[in-house]
Amino acid sequence: MLGIESSCDETGVGIVRGTELLAHVVASSVDEHVRFGGVVPEVASRAHLEAMVPALEQAYADSGVRIQDVDAVAVTCGPGLTGALLVGVAAAKALALAHDKPLYGLNHLAAHVAVDQLEHGRIEGRVAALLVSGGHSEILLVDDITCDITLLGQTIDDAAGEAFDKVARLLGLPYPGGPHIDRIAADGDPTAIAFPRALTAARDQARHRWDFSFSGLKSAVSRHVQREALAGRELPVADVAASFQDAVCDVLTRKAVEACLEHDVSTLVIGGGVAANSRLRHYAEQRAAEAGIEIRVPRMGLCTDNGAMVAALGAEVVRRGHRPSSLDLPADSGLPVTQVVAG
Ligand code: ATP
Ligand code: MG
Ligand code: FE
Repeated sequence: MLGIESSCDETGVGIVRGTELLAHVVASSVDEHVRFGGVVPEVASRAHLEAMVPALEQAYADSGVRIQDVDAVAVTCGPGLTGALLVGVAAAKALALAHDKPLYGLNHLAAHVAVDQLEHGRIEGRVAALLVSGGHSEILLVDDITCDITLLGQTIDDAAGEAFDKVARLLGLPYPGGPHIDRIAADGDPTAIAFPRALTAARDQARHRWDFSFSGLKSAVSRHVQREALAGRELPVADVAASFQDAVCDVLTRKAVEACLEHDVSTLVIGGGVAANSRLRHYAEQRAAEAGIEIRVPRMGLCTDNGAMVAALGAEVVRRGHRPSSLDLPADSGLPVTQVVAG
């Protein structure tokens, strides 16, 4: 299975055989976005155009698999930036048409979860998933990663990765901020500043049991930074980063483990770029162990956007006998997580 990813700023091409990873090529345009402090859609689309064919060729070379040999072509068709998605979708259609292969338009978010199959083997039975990325923060109940996903809760404002990126900016760190905060926080005290844990109070349980909110936390960090500046104190950047990171990861893992217990599932899969965070991994392992839950987190290089995750989901979709997508497959920037295979 060949998988193509282009929903944001990573051009990814992966090749898998079932749950076996054969090629994993990622070309990122992140450096071109740094000076704008965020992804510029037009710049990302152009970069995908330039990177797509070299990435495909690299994947063929790395795996020794020729396009003639693949069984099918899978591609992210949403959610994401429309102009960016279109490049991957067009490339996948061209390959499918030229080489007479079935085409599968797949959901990027489901692929962030399915990628763990490459790391820890097939996901069997009902599991819960915590999906934490640049654009999404969701708790899912997954009965079948190819067609049966229930959205339990999601962020009501900023995504976790977005919060990392915005707070990094406040602290004068480059984009994307998540890895920088993770690195700097290692030297800080996570208990130095008591930042808020939104939607965890008893009064929120009825309406927002499994939802998240991170925009208030971001504002709290901003106020703290301003207050220190007004007082003429030097900002303890490492302590702020560690305390902020602790607040995010505390809430994410607490709710995810509670959701597992409440829905009687014994496995939690964590996916998306923020799953690369060291504090999140630490909390997840600790809390899952306490609750007797198995935790599955893919290695860091598979957490952020890549083509192998799309190929991994594609292989599972074929194994479960789903019909291919049409060659008219559109890019859908708002594709909901519950729709795994597009028409
Ligand atoms: P989506 O998947 O919702 O469409 P996306 O594809 O842009 O969004 P990903 O590539 O999955 O998101 O993840 C990127 C995000 O992950 C960024 O916000 C980045 O800051 C964050 N991130 C990456 N590494 C870390 C880390 N070590 N700690 C915290 N956040 C991280
Ligand atoms: Mg990215
Ligand atoms: Fe993503």
